[in-house]
Amino acid sequence: MRVLVEYEKCCGAGQCVVVAPKVFDQRDDGIVMLLDETPSPEQYSAVREAVSICPGAALQLEESE
Ligand code: SF4
Repeated sequence: MRVLVEYEKCCGAGQCVVVAPKVFDQRDDGIVMLLDETPSPEQYSAVREAVSICPGAALQLEESE
């Protein structure tokens, strides 16, 4: 799994950080920071949830298998 971020779509709501704090953080101005572009399998469900609830539709996934 690879996480893709369209930073210009991020509205800084922070939901991704709440559900997947090992993968996402926020900059001082609220815009998302990607901590781990290729998360480990135990993070997959949290990352998928973050993608589905992101209000800006700023997050996308590339699934490897
Ligand atoms: S949930 Fe989406 S809009 Fe909110 S901080 Fe994360 S990437 Fe940005």
